[in-house]
Amino acid sequence: MASKITSKTAMELEDKYGAHNYHPLPVVLAKGLGALVWDAEGKEYYDFLSAYSAVNQGHCHPKIISALKEQAEILTLTSRAFYNNVLGEYEQYMTEYFGYDKVLPMNTGAEADETALKLARKWAYEKKGIPENQAKIIVCANNFHGRTITIISMSTDPDAYKGFGPFTPGFITVPYNNLDALKKELEDPNVAAFLVEPIQGEAGVFVPDEGYLKNAYDACKAKNVLFIADEVQTGIARTGKLLACDHEGVKPDILILGKALSGGVLPVSAVLANDDIMLVIKPGEHGSTFGGNPLAAKVAIAALEVVKNEKLAERAEYLGQIFRNFLRAIDSDMIELVRGKGLLNAVIIKPKNGKEAWDVCLKMAENGVLAKPTHGHIIRFAPPLVISEEQLLDAAERIKKSILSF
Ligand code: PLP
Repeated sequence: MASKITSKTAMELEDKYGAHNYHPLPVVLAKGLGALVWDAEGKEYYDFLSAYSAVNQGHCHPKIISALKEQAEILTLTSRAFYNNVLGEYEQYMTEYFGYDKVLPMNTGAEADETALKLARKWAYEKKGIPENQAKIIVCANNFHGRTITIISMSTDPDAYKGFGPFTPGFITVPYNNLDALKKELEDPNVAAFLVEPIQGEAGVFVPDEGYLKNAYDACKAKNVLFIADEVQTGIARTGKLLACDHEGVKPDILILGKALSGGVLPVSAVLANDDIMLVIKPGEHGSTFGGNPLAAKVAIAALEVVKNEKLAERAEYLGQIFRNFLRAIDSDMIELVRGKGLLNAVIIKPKNGKEAWDVCLKMAENGVLAKPTHGHIIRFAPPLVISEEQLLDAAERIKKSILSF
């Protein structure tokens, strides 16, 4: 299989005509199936990024693609000016699946985060009694919630915010995985919510101490503060449970989902909450042209069915253990630390002879495994959860060979 355009031409076109807001590995992908992808010349790779955990169900999963094709020929978009005959079915499926009264459908992760912030502020004024325009939201250092102006206003990463001010006010930053700092800020009566990633994915798969989420949740409850979990990257089976919060038995007041909600087929995101929170938003106060479209709704139902039917959470838990054990047994002074949960893992790379995580990723690509460094020295490993044990071990051997080559 070789596509008509060569990798060289494809890269030149992107470089010449596309904005330079990404720095991709020099690999041009032309096809994907399950845990595998192929470049424009037909070279095969294991995908160990899964589009930042959007492709948990594997590339082009036949059940999801079949739902897409079937609905695409019937009705794709109506806007929310009218009802459509799929949205209600999807909303019922989603709320039963995740155990909430209501869902608000959006498209991207950033939009879902924005939705949650609006919801929390409105709830603060209408239910908690915080004076208008005084609500504060506590966020964590090194967070990643997306790229909008408000979201980068919560960021502590200069790459994300520098040069894009002025910023949206109303956020307090606390160190991640630090309960005392959180509790101190919770003393402020104008705090509406605490927004947290159960594992910080973009920060380099930073897993908090056991008990952090549960204690943070309890501390929020004691102060009538909403606990908002951004599970855009950690949710939908990635960490070995349906949600990463499930590891600690925490049920967020507001749950944010995206990415794998569609198996990577369409941008589909969602915010879930119970009625006492969700119903503070009234008609006309929030929405999106594409949010809740029937095509996305059918795709998302199929994607969630795959997660359940193929027991992807259990697979992630089982395979994750095997993978981490394998990586930890590699005898290389370039591996400083291996961490993660389920199939969301990272290796911290110690540079050697001027070779860094980027060079390791180039070598891995040469050896047929695709992954991308984050923050220069961390490599995240997040293959599709449908990967077989045999494929995982084959890929792990290639990763080992790549690291040991330096
Ligand atoms: N929230 C988290 C935790 C993420 O990891 C991401 C993307 O990586 C987002 C939000 C933003 O999602 P999107 O890129 O779909 O806007």
